[in-house]
Amino acid sequence: MSTDTPASGTAAVSLRGITKRFGDFTAVKDLDIEIERGEFFSMLGPSGSGKTTVLRMIAGFEAPTEGTIHLEGTDITHEAPFDREVNTVFQDYALFPHMNVLENVAYGLTVRKMSKAEKYERSREALRQVQLDHLADRLPSQLSGGQRQRIALARALILRPKVLLLDEPLGALDKQLREQMQIELKQIQREAGITFIFVTHDQEEALTLSDRIAVYNDGKIEQVGSPREVYEFPQTEFVAKFLGVTNLISSELSQQLFDSASQHSIRPERVGVRDATFTGEAGTVALQGVIAETVYAGPQTRYLIDTEAGVRLISEHQNAHAPRLDPSIRRGDRVTAVFDRAHATAIPGA
Ligand code: ATP
Repeated sequence: MSTDTPASGTAAVSLRGITKRFGDFTAVKDLDIEIERGEFFSMLGPSGSGKTTVLRMIAGFEAPTEGTIHLEGTDITHEAPFDREVNTVFQDYALFPHMNVLENVAYGLTVRKMSKAEKYERSREALRQVQLDHLADRLPSQLSGGQRQRIALARALILRPKVLLLDEPLGALDKQLREQMQIELKQIQREAGITFIFVTHDQEEALTLSDRIAVYNDGKIEQVGSPREVYEFPQTEFVAKFLGVTNLISSELSQQLFDSASQHSIRPERVGVRDATFTGEAGTVALQGVIAETVYAGPQTRYLIDTEAGVRLISEHQNAHAPRLDPSIRRGDRVTAVFDRAHATAIPGA
């Protein structure tokens, strides 16, 4: 289910009724998206859900079977890739190994008519933007993965495209570098004021970076919204499960607890653990049960609680107490799982 409707044509990118078939396989199914100017827009979904295919259609590397693509109001559906004012940054960077950093960045300008001096001046400026002007003379092989990624970004930004397409650009980096690059990427995007369309299968990355996220499943968009909207108010079971961990309350139990036939989602960080004698208070749901598992993960501990109501609940706690070696809750303990009724959200699509 898409929550966007095609609008007036002033959006950075509008996809209307886009379908892509490969032979008799339909990879993208009747998609409508409006991406606003200056937006950091992520396309998030599992492998094979169609997000790269959509990105490639915006870039012009694939033609849609049906539908139209507009760039700032102009129909570009049948334009060649190099005629489109969009640029792509791939996961594998695609830098020329025999050219130094400055030449690699300046290569982006070779097709443009301008003096050599101007080309190099603009390349230096782009390198400053990604904070790598001090490495202008190095070869790509003399750089770290994160630095190579920033060069690829500078080379794409130098053309001042209306829209920058990024296909899992941080996928090859280790976790720490990835997190650092996420912050930098966001800063660069804000400063450059360019629309970014970012493909990822990493939900945390999409939540961290995006103004809005489109959640893909099987060639369709299940929900479009801000990170808060898609995490706090998932509209379908798929979105609730794909964006982090959640507890799903079946429609039968929802009927008893909330007097509603919709499934409900309650996030683990909103489920508390109290001792077994606690029977609840106004506005809460209290379910008796037994700790089936405890998972200590450094900053957090997770408890799996098998409740008498039949649902297994996950409860997540920040380890904000004084450091200690002994766990206060152990497997087999009888407890009460508690959550605020208002914190459980109905899933309308279920
Ligand atoms: P990933 O995260 O793995 O890149 P994705 O969500 O980007 O996944 P796509 O690459 O868009 O998924 O692929 C969507 C579906 O279309 C997949 O089932 C894929 O096998 C299929 N597909 C993509 N390109 C082609 C092609 N050229 N010919 C046939 N099938 C294709």
